[in-house]
Amino acid sequence: MKTTLLEGLRVGVLGLGRSGIAAANLANAKGASVLVSEAKAKTACKEQLSLLEDGIEQECGGHSDLLLQSDIIIKSPGIHHAPILDKLTGKGTPVWSEIELALRFLEPRNLFAITGTNGKTTTTTLVGEILKATRQPAVVAGNIGTPLASLVDEVTKKTSVVLEVSSYQLEDSPTFRPTISTILNITPDHLEHHKTMKNYVQAKALVFARQTKKDYCILNHDDPYCRKLAEQCPAKVIFFSCKKALPRGIYYNGTHLIARLPGLTCKLSAALAIPGLHNIENALAAAAMTLVAGVRPALVEKVITSFPGVEHRIELARELGGVRYFNDSKATNVDSTFVALKSFNAPIWLILGGRDKGSPYTPLKALIKRKVKGILLIGEAAPRIKKDLRGLVPFYESKTLAKALQTGQKLAQPGDIVLLSPACASFDQFRSYEDRGRVFKQLVQRLHAAAARPARVRP
Ligand code: ADP
Repeated sequence: MKTTLLEGLRVGVLGLGRSGIAAANLANAKGASVLVSEAKAKTACKEQLSLLEDGIEQECGGHSDLLLQSDIIIKSPGIHHAPILDKLTGKGTPVWSEIELALRFLEPRNLFAITGTNGKTTTTTLVGEILKATRQPAVVAGNIGTPLASLVDEVTKKTSVVLEVSSYQLEDSPTFRPTISTILNITPDHLEHHKTMKNYVQAKALVFARQTKKDYCILNHDDPYCRKLAEQCPAKVIFFSCKKALPRGIYYNGTHLIARLPGLTCKLSAALAIPGLHNIENALAAAAMTLVAGVRPALVEKVITSFPGVEHRIELARELGGVRYFNDSKATNVDSTFVALKSFNAPIWLILGGRDKGSPYTPLKALIKRKVKGILLIGEAAPRIKKDLRGLVPFYESKTLAKALQTGQKLAQPGDIVLLSPACASFDQFRSYEDRGRVFKQLVQRLHAAAARPARVRP
């Protein structure tokens, strides 16, 4: 791609997160004069500032009108409302995601894009692992943690790029066109930003909006929003299903994944190493994406059946006194807690709560009634959760994760599960869901077998 693209231009980078740092360094390397602008005070972002290359200008503690001189703005996906953004859009300044910037310098062999409300990281990792097993060069980037802008030098025309993309990133990526895309599912989330489901669905649809008949889009036939979106999808649509034997597409028949794809019919074992029907869905999507890209079915099968899963997603932290402790800190919305509950048959002590994200907890009612022995409440959302889930099982007001675990350990009988699957964001008490999950695992490691006593805890 044209390396002169940014020469002589002024690039403003809004937000100094991982993607902002990578975007600033890339723009700088490509000849732009770069100003990075961060709302936090300088003292709070010393570490991030130290990662910026020489020559990059910085302002901290707010976004000044200096940004209005920019020719292009690269916006962090975490920033939604800032007065400076209104001024910039009023002036007509293009606002891009870091992904949009990076892709302007890349011509990958294939661009795989994975979006959806839940399952993105698992599916992205799986696709990456399958491609790596082919021994062809592949990089995995995006929302999953590594900014694409930091990998630009590694990607040649022979490299496949596997990108996890959020609806926020899609909204700021005006030329985004993957060769193979997927929308895994669409359930209520981020409504504090998108306001309505209609807006949220259309934001997800941006993943295929610029695809053509040469490209593929893998859609979930079991999800009514995805099924409907097929009607407006310009790419070749491949459906996947866990419920229905599809005449074309890929589906799960209870033991195998049956693929009936253009020019290829095959049957892959569905004996996955990771639990739950939701992971079969992720495997279906990953298999479809890689099979249409030409990967051999035997290789796809080998990787999907041996894949150990990703940290913080229904991860077994420890077994102690016959009780299994699972870390599902990544369940930051109601739907992912729903699938976690569905994945278990043993009785569950459920740690629920954190920062409320605006969706009701009521969809959990039936599963809680059937599978949960008690709810250990943590964080800010406790009053709302109690209101939504009243009268089903006892609540134990725990406030903190440490207290919830103590209580869980006292109450759990051998064979039970203590599950952190909070259905909420973590930011009221933790830096991130990773932080919450790590703290959980440390606390679980510190539990002593001796502390397990018959339950004497009152709801
Ligand atoms: P994302 O990156 O979209 O947040 P992850 O792969 O990190 O997705 O999984 C996060 C949580 O979402 C998991 O712990 C699990 O509870 C749930 N989940 C994973 N895959 C699916 C799926 N296909 N459908 C619904 N929920 C899922």
